[in-house]
Amino acid sequence: MNQPIYVTQPYLPPLEEFIPYLQEIWVNKILTNGGPFHQQLEKELCDYLGVKHISLFTNGTIALVTALQALRITGEVITTPYSFVATAHSLLWNGIKPVFVDVDPKTLNLDPARIEAAITPQTTAIMPVHVYGHPCDVDAIQKIADNYNLKVIYDAAHAFGVQCHCGSVLNHGDLSVLSFHATKVFNTFEGGAIVCPDEKTKQRIDHLKNFGFVDEVTVVAPGINGKMSEFNAALGLLQLKHIDSALARRKQIDATYREQLAGVKGIHCLGDAGEAQSNHAYFPILVQPDYPLSRDALYQKLKDNGIHGRRYFYPLISDFPMYRGMLSAQRGNLPVAAAAAATVLCLPIYPALTPEAQKRVIDIIRGA
Ligand SMILES: *Cc1c(COP(=O)(O)O)cnc(C)c1O
Repeated sequence: MNQPIYVTQPYLPPLEEFIPYLQEIWVNKILTNGGPFHQQLEKELCDYLGVKHISLFTNGTIALVTALQALRITGEVITTPYSFVATAHSLLWNGIKPVFVDVDPKTLNLDPARIEAAITPQTTAIMPVHVYGHPCDVDAIQKIADNYNLKVIYDAAHAFGVQCHCGSVLNHGDLSVLSFHATKVFNTFEGGAIVCPDEKTKQRIDHLKNFGFVDEVTVVAPGINGKMSEFNAALGLLQLKHIDSALARRKQIDATYREQLAGVKGIHCLGDAGEAQSNHAYFPILVQPDYPLSRDALYQKLKDNGIHGRRYFYPLISDFPMYRGMLSAQRGNLPVAAAAAATVLCLPIYPALTPEAQKRVIDIIRGA
């Protein structure tokens, strides 16, 4: 039997390259609270990503929760049902009501044309997601936000290193939140960050992630413990040294899938070929009615052959029990997202995926 192939495999740098970082931590005995590796990673990420300020977090979910606190968001927030569940959970953790709006059929990102109809006097913000690392229509979303005086917080968990028409996509909106979870393009095992445009906001975020402490005796807000440790920050510094080659390999795998699946009737590869903008974090296909198998049958067939694709994002967030009673969660309000959730399958993509392994995936899809 062949080795199983998973949808992703976390990228790990050579172990011997990590030892010097550990030695430094053991000598310094600084383990957390904005130590030297933490400071260095914030600086290097600003340079690499082309952003002004970044605040590191213990994970992306706590970063999302804190981003909403930082901007004092209340009431209702317009968001997408087509995402990982943490997007909407971060709203519930703040006592905010998520209002689900359908997605654009081409990108599966929040559809700007449908946002205005969902705005009420309680609406204070929009939380879109750059799904699969494909940029949202940031200009259209900003225009609506400006017209209605709303904040925009991007869940940019998939969008590490993604560029749009005017530089890093992370510079759009009021805040962008990254995840450095093991399964993401850039990982620190667990980790995350908030990107913000000004020093004052960065300071508030830094206070909030450290219990609200400003100095030894002053607490200015009911903050949380969201700090990234020195261990995770050191991993990040090392990952950053390898990120360009990891992204280049992902791009090759993406191109091979597109080329090899182009003629397969009923299989649609999401996004554009050679997309300069994407980081190739995922490789989603839509299994359409003219393909011989249903999406679930193809998913099972791959699984029977040791290939574990993932149905991201199925079920929709709006179908989970804590959301499905909401008016905006009703299926009739979200036809495009519902159709996508029923047809999408993410194929294995990660730097260590060998050409032979990729061929196994392609052969099964072609041979159905
Ligand atoms: C991974 C992910 C998160 C959560 O990030 P963690 O670092 O795992 O907490 C949030 N939103 C989206 C879209 C994600 O994919």
